[in-house]
Amino acid sequence: MKSYRKELWFNTENRYELINITPLVEECIRESGVRDGLCLVNSMHITSSVFINDDESGLHRDYLRWLEKLAPHEPIERYEHNKTGEDNGDAHLKRQIMGREVVVAITNGQLDFGPWEQIFYGEFDGRRRKRVLIKIIGE
Ligand code: ZN
Repeated sequence: MKSYRKELWFNTENRYELINITPLVEECIRESGVRDGLCLVNSMHITSSVFINDDESGLHRDYLRWLEKLAPHEPIERYEHNKTGEDNGDAHLKRQIMGREVVVAITNGQLDFGPWEQIFYGEFDGRRRKRVLIKIIGE
C-alpha cells in the first residue's frame, strides 16, 4: 500500500474566503501515484473548513450570507468565546457547520466525483497562515 501526506498552506487576503482546491488535490493524487484508494482532505484549524459542493459564485455568496445570519461576526461581545480576548467566536461556529474534512474515493488515478462536486477550503478567520492536510492511501 502507498501512503502520501502533504500540507497545503493558505494566507487569505480577507477574513472569509471560499477557495476551490480541487486542482491542488488532483496534483497531490498524481504525485502520490495512487490509482485506487482514498483521499482525505481536512482543515488543520478550528476556524476553517473543507467541504464539497458546486463551484458556483451565487451559491458561495448564499453560503456566506447564510453563515453570517447564523453566526454574525459582530457584535463580537455576543460570544462567550471572545471573552478570552479573541474575536473569532463566529468563525468556530461557521467551521462547525461547514465541516472539518472530506474523504473522496480515488478510481483510475482520479477523484471519483459525482456531477458538479468540487472541493473547497472555507476560511472564516483568515489573513494569517493556515494549513490543510492531505492524506492519500491506496495502490
Ligand atoms: Zn477562537
